[in-house]
Amino acid sequence: MADITDLGIAGLRDGFRAGEFSAREVADAFNGAVAAGRVLNAFIAETPDHAIAAAEVADRARASGELRPLSGVPLGIKDLFCTAGYQTTAASHMLEGFVPQYESTVTAQLFAAGAGMLGKLNMDQFAMGSSNETSAFGNVISPWRVAGGNAPLAPGGSSGGSSAAISARLVPAATGTDTGGSIRQPAAFTGISGIKPTYGRCSRFGIVAFASSLDQAGAMAHDVRDCAILLEAMSGFDPKDSTSLDVSVPKWESGLSSDLKGKKIGIPREYRVDGMPAEIDALWQKGIDCLRDAGAEIVEVSLPHTHHALATYYIIAPAEASSNLARYDGVRYGLRELPDGANLQDMYAATRAAGFGAEVKRRILIGTYVLSAGFYDAYYNKAQKVRALIARDFEDAFRQVDVLLTPTAPSAAFALGEKSADPLEMYLNDVFTVPASMAGLPAMSVPGGLDSRGLPLGLQIIGRPLDEQGVLNAGLAIEERAGFTARPEKWW
Ligand code: GLN
Repeated sequence: MADITDLGIAGLRDGFRAGEFSAREVADAFNGAVAAGRVLNAFIAETPDHAIAAAEVADRARASGELRPLSGVPLGIKDLFCTAGYQTTAASHMLEGFVPQYESTVTAQLFAAGAGMLGKLNMDQFAMGSSNETSAFGNVISPWRVAGGNAPLAPGGSSGGSSAAISARLVPAATGTDTGGSIRQPAAFTGISGIKPTYGRCSRFGIVAFASSLDQAGAMAHDVRDCAILLEAMSGFDPKDSTSLDVSVPKWESGLSSDLKGKKIGIPREYRVDGMPAEIDALWQKGIDCLRDAGAEIVEVSLPHTHHALATYYIIAPAEASSNLARYDGVRYGLRELPDGANLQDMYAATRAAGFGAEVKRRILIGTYVLSAGFYDAYYNKAQKVRALIARDFEDAFRQVDVLLTPTAPSAAFALGEKSADPLEMYLNDVFTVPASMAGLPAMSVPGGLDSRGLPLGLQIIGRPLDEQGVLNAGLAIEERAGFTARPEKWW
């Protein structure tokens, strides 16, 4: 039998049901892996007790025939999801020691489905970043290394604890959140799969807010099937989130099919950006070949406003962040800095100066600037208009094709420290993921191959609103054909 920690969600679920191992054995195996992988710094907090308690419930449920969809499956939870009774920090000193009284809807659904929690995963602070270097709890180290080298690499961000923990087999799967690419880019950097559903599929209730019109929870896992299973358990209407979609959740796992006959795949020509490495181009071609082999027709399409997406995102996301983060004032939760003789204003200022990291402050400054009276029309309003044009581009394209195929990121994982001194350089990483976020579309990354240095590269599939099934199916077609079996060599 395979090592338990090599299994993903479906393997654990099915093996547990078949009596090959107990849920307690699974929890113990992954708790052990989490402890053995501490050098990766993928977790802000480990919660072995939660995983064990859920496993004991699962073992009793198996005995009494009351299994639930995720019975016997432990998960990692990004530390952006409020977990009742367990510290939730968003990787910021601002929330250090904050123990929510309530459960996020997504984690509540996962736990109700039988899953246990192995720990709270490290991330970029308030989900702002692409490398996990903005965490107040230290960066995550990717388990991947350049062939023959040992320089520490970024696991991507902001869900970098999730991507590192999955690819290192510390957890079988994890939640992520994606505002402009934070599920897809880290998935691409670490050779795993990750899906961000249509905006509104997963409730945002209890997820620490970054940019509310863009934030979406999603699934990160070893393969497409596991993503489908996990996303199914996370999704659903929630009256506690005013932007939650009141639509039923399809049975994505049972709907999986990699036969793409009759489907049209769009290749957006504007994604062929200047200076794109030849290896990324070759990967894209490989993805095209896989989808054609699966029976799809390939069609070139145009998304003319693509090149404005990044600039637009870096106006809208900071604008919303500056407003959302105004709540951290030292009064209600988290950190409070009260210098001697301080008045209320002094306390606000001291708390925010001490609690927020440099990138978060940068976003608050940008956001406050673009929303200020003199500049609102020039920046924020203009960006909203361009956002509408970007969404319209997609609507036009989806009149001709069923899904779009692009690379996930313009490069493989970079070294820690390589881009952290230059915010703009870091933002450029999001060039391929941000447009789908602006339009609220479902999108996923699947591993497509390795570059010449032995690092994973990801392919992105973008779908019509609510067509997660189409996205997953195209992802499956690539997964079955790309033959990606590489995994990081264990050095930790
Ligand atoms: N890297 C992007 C940013 O820093 C996206 C982050 C995210 O999706 N949460 O804003």
